[in-house]
Amino acid sequence: MTSFDGALRGYAFPIHQRDSFKCRYCGVPGSRDFNSWLTLSWDHLLPKGHPNHDNPDYIVTACNFCNTADNHYFKLAEKRGLKFDGLTPDQLVAQRLPFVQATREEYESFWKQYVSNK
Ligand SMILES: [Zn+2]
Repeated sequence: MTSFDGALRGYAFPIHQRDSFKCRYCGVPGSRDFNSWLTLSWDHLLPKGHPNHDNPDYIVTACNFCNTADNHYFKLAEKRGLKFDGLTPDQLVAQRLPFVQATREEYESFWKQYVSNK
């Protein structure tokens, strides 16, 4: 592939390709919809300083919203009793998912009330 600038066409591309261009949390389909593709970013499953933090196996496709939905995930991990060692990438996604979903649900309620069909 030709070299392109930017995450979507560059360093994030192999991660997105591996994940079929779908957000691992909400499933927004970047290969079917151009606007969805534009929202894709990547999400580190392990905290900074972890030996596998930058290992591509532990970085997954996430849309911008899901990526930032639980912004304090790593900071709150200890308080929430979450562990990172010994979990597979799929298990790490599953561990994070309920926190992302909780924020999505809050935003969905707001959207239904104030945004949808306005
Ligand atoms: Zn998403």
